[in-house]
Amino acid sequence: MLIRTKLSPGHLYPQLTQFPGNYHDFLAAFRGGQTVDRNTYLTTADTPQTHMYKTALTSGHLITQGNPIQGESLVDIFLTDEGADSIFLPRDRKFCELAVELAKKSVHENDGELHPHVGAVVVKDGQIISTGFRGETGEGRHAEFCALKKLNEADVDHVDLSGCTVYTALEPCSERKAGKTACAVRLINANAARVVSGMPDKDKDVYGFSLLLEANIHLGLFPNDLMQELSALNKQWSDTRRKPKVFHHPTTPAHSRTFRTTNREPRWKTTSTSMFVRHNMLTVSIP
Ligand SMILES: [Zn+2]
Repeated sequence: MLIRTKLSPGHLYPQLTQFPGNYHDFLAAFRGGQTVDRNTYLTTADTPQTHMYKTALTSGHLITQGNPIQGESLVDIFLTDEGADSIFLPRDRKFCELAVELAKKSVHENDGELHPHVGAVVVKDGQIISTGFRGETGEGRHAEFCALKKLNEADVDHVDLSGCTVYTALEPCSERKAGKTACAVRLINANAARVVSGMPDKDKDVYGFSLLLEANIHLGLFPNDLMQELSALNKQWSDTRRKPKVFHHPTTPAHSRTFRTTNREPRWKTTSTSMFVRHNMLTVSIP
């Protein structure tokens, strides 16, 4: 995490050697930024982290910013967008697949309405630290809430997701009824570093992605085949969120979309008149 307050004597600032020892997790730990002790481990020590740090700076995967606290020897280190793009690995896919499987376990409230299938997986340093699915810990509870609840059963409003990626099958909700906290707000309050999502919410009043982006949380999407699977799984519910509009294909020639004739008379009228005349002729011709 980024540190902006001087620690009291006897407390150590985060050391580079405390960060993960493989490159993927090492880079991922710097999502959202980390304040690190600027000491010899950064540049001269013979540790895996020092070598990875130098490589990451050279390749543009990490950037540094100046000392955040006057009088201390610290540096802020951030994962760059290029670095973030470089670490979507098969393991990310595995977590996305697990979120889809969890979504299928969703328990829906028996209120006669349709509800989405949603699963959530919380990962830190490559390890799953919690999972959840809709309805898992109580009727109507959202998947993200269920996952966070397991991390702090006593107080779900105080969960620390620093350095965590949350894989969630559906765009996190942005508003809930009075007294309830929206999932996007929970993820922001918990300081999540990254949210990878399986499908957007079609409801025009949902803006979870925008909230997360504006809070400077890295956003990602599931691989396309898993997004298609979730879209199909939630199609019935999704269609209740917004009525689909029918659009004309932009390449359709204008003349094929109009029924007007050159004498400015609607063709349907002419056709109907013709049918009316034919009908009457037929009627007349029958004895
Ligand atoms: Zn929610």
